[in-house]
Amino acid sequence: MREEAERRARAADSTPAAAATDVVSFELPGDDFVPSSAPAVAPSALPLDLRPSAATGQRRTDSTPHPVPEARVRGRRRAVRSPRPVVSERRAARAAELLEVDDSAQPARHARPRRLTRRLIVVAGLATGAALLLGSAAMTAMMLPSAPDAGADAGLSMTADPPEIQQLPVPDIEESPPAADICSLPDVTAAVQRGDDEAAIVAAGGGEAFRAAVVEGRAPCVDLSDSARIWTVMDKIRPASPIDYRPSALVLPDGVRNVEGGALRSDAASALASLVTAARNAGGGEIALESGFRSYQTQQETYGRHFAERGERADQVSARPGYSEHQLGLSADVVACAGACGSLDQLAATPQGQFVAEHSWEHGWIVRYADGATPVTGYLPEPWHLRYVGPELAKAYHEGGWTSLEEFFALPPAPDYLG
Ligand SMILES: [Zn+2]
Repeated sequence: MREEAERRARAADSTPAAAATDVVSFELPGDDFVPSSAPAVAPSALPLDLRPSAATGQRRTDSTPHPVPEARVRGRRRAVRSPRPVVSERRAARAAELLEVDDSAQPARHARPRRLTRRLIVVAGLATGAALLLGSAAMTAMMLPSAPDAGADAGLSMTADPPEIQQLPVPDIEESPPAADICSLPDVTAAVQRGDDEAAIVAAGGGEAFRAAVVEGRAPCVDLSDSARIWTVMDKIRPASPIDYRPSALVLPDGVRNVEGGALRSDAASALASLVTAARNAGGGEIALESGFRSYQTQQETYGRHFAERGERADQVSARPGYSEHQLGLSADVVACAGACGSLDQLAATPQGQFVAEHSWEHGWIVRYADGATPVTGYLPEPWHLRYVGPELAKAYHEGGWTSLEEFFALPPAPDYLG
């Protein structure tokens, strides 16, 4: 290895220009460079004392941001500091390492063509706009030959006529149109395949871009009826699939008072711990988990109890087995505690209830059954029932002022069961 490194280093020394080009191209990934992954939960939303428990499932691992390889980071810094030729043996060997790293670094292969393409688009746009505005065949003939040069040249030649430059439609070039089909984006399909839903949404351009793609039929790889997805919609006409679906991994949220010992999917458990910690730190008091995952069998008992008390009206307050979001491991009923914990009905009137209403979206949650949405959801308002949809979708939901997941995804309302 050592000899090979020195041999490559000597080769690097003999062609400093080529080496510098490789390093510099790696150093400049372009202003449109997008990291291949992003955290599923905002780092600021994850307190340091919340470590994944031993039972933490694979989804948590997937949602953890992939670390940038050390060699790439150092290679980038080195490229900035030392464009001059390598002289010592150690530095020569290091240069050889860098060359190896650069050979496999994706940004080096993609960044320059993309920048060149953008530059050509900018130049072509400037030249075409100027030609149209001036309406002069002679001027067109003068401008076109300069197009292959740098964009700066075109800009300089344009400054001869300031009033018309201001009318050029340059800003449009910076905005890329939404992908016709987000599932044609490799980062989206890769994230979907490995079950990293949040990363898929980020790769699609964020929560609102993802929502728009689904609504407009530009997301064929997104199945809203897939019970294992954070974007799944479950209501009285959209049962679990299969009907007795059960998530593969469930954990108890760390650092959260747990009234019934309820478990959640690991991503939801982390997000609940984040919400509870944020409320505590903001002086909002203690929030506890009253009820988390409920199996198909448990829901049979829960609904049966409500039905015994209310008859048909039980459907307004409790889901039939196979139709409860609690079966997904993505829903949490929370209560306020001050010493003892209050009931679900009491939450809304507490500071904790106010904090949940205002800030739960910041941690990936939505209040699933909102005031006024009963004709769509089929349930009376439940300010305590939180549904985890991930930070991106929760942000889009909050900012869009949505009050039901059905309307968010432009689905038909589900006021009652079909049969
Ligand atoms: Zn609930």
